[in-house]
Amino acid sequence: MRCAYHPDYFVALPAAHPFPMAKYPLLLERLLAEGLVAPAELIEPGLASLDDLQLVHSGEYLARLAAGTLDAAAVRRIGVPWSPALWRRSRLAVQGTLQAARAALDDGLAANLAGGTHHAFAGHGEGFCVLNDVAVATRVLQRDRRLRRVLVVDLDVHQGNGTAAIFESDSDVFTFSMHGERNYPARKMRSSLDVPLADGTGDEEYLDLLATHLSGILGRFVPDLVFYLAGVDPVRGDRYGRLALSEDGLRRREKQVLETFGKRGLPVVITIAGGYANTPARTAELHAHVFREARRLTV
Ligand SMILES: [Zn+2]
Repeated sequence: MRCAYHPDYFVALPAAHPFPMAKYPLLLERLLAEGLVAPAELIEPGLASLDDLQLVHSGEYLARLAAGTLDAAAVRRIGVPWSPALWRRSRLAVQGTLQAARAALDDGLAANLAGGTHHAFAGHGEGFCVLNDVAVATRVLQRDRRLRRVLVVDLDVHQGNGTAAIFESDSDVFTFSMHGERNYPARKMRSSLDVPLADGTGDEEYLDLLATHLSGILGRFVPDLVFYLAGVDPVRGDRYGRLALSEDGLRRREKQVLETFGKRGLPVVITIAGGYANTPARTAELHAHVFREARRLTV
């Protein structure tokens, strides 16, 4: 499976910043160590072009990001301090998702070892998300006539509010978000299908709902490509999540998602999205499960 990764996905943050930036290199290290990804399968993305970014994001927002002139409130909303490295990283990660999507269209399955920044809106960022990688990749591939219909399966514990808003009136993009009802964002946007879950929701209920909704969606919408936001923050003990998936439940979730689309021959691009376990190493370990399941399916 081809995987997009760039060393500059990692950007140094102030000490004690809550975002686990170290999970990106740690995840790559683990995937290579376990033989889940071979060095030859790595794709190193370049910078997403401004033309591509403008298919989704407003010119004013992009100009402020490029020049470092976001106001203090806009930076606070993003939750990560602006720096030239952050702007560069955000563009690399968008391009990583785009290149992974192209690889998935060719190979059936591919991944970006970042991405899933679903809280980014057209004109602002929030919740650690600067640019909406899945939205930009979708618009680029539509423009280039590589595809028309896209399904976004967002299982990060937080609602994909930016993605929902961007595609709100687009019937070619189906946005599915299954998330903690009481988790951020307090004010939810409207996805094509939202499945809010109560605090403490565990494996059986979660996996049953997922199976029901995935088959319901595929009964009425046949995508050309699926973006899977495989956030691991629904796992019990996550610093932000309020759900209670076990680690085995997470493994079963990844298997279920990949099998559902694999059986139907629908290409899937995996983005890792959020995860806030006790340590970045533990978070990376949880993110590795989707790659283990992908490996089992593709060998
Ligand atoms: Zn999240």
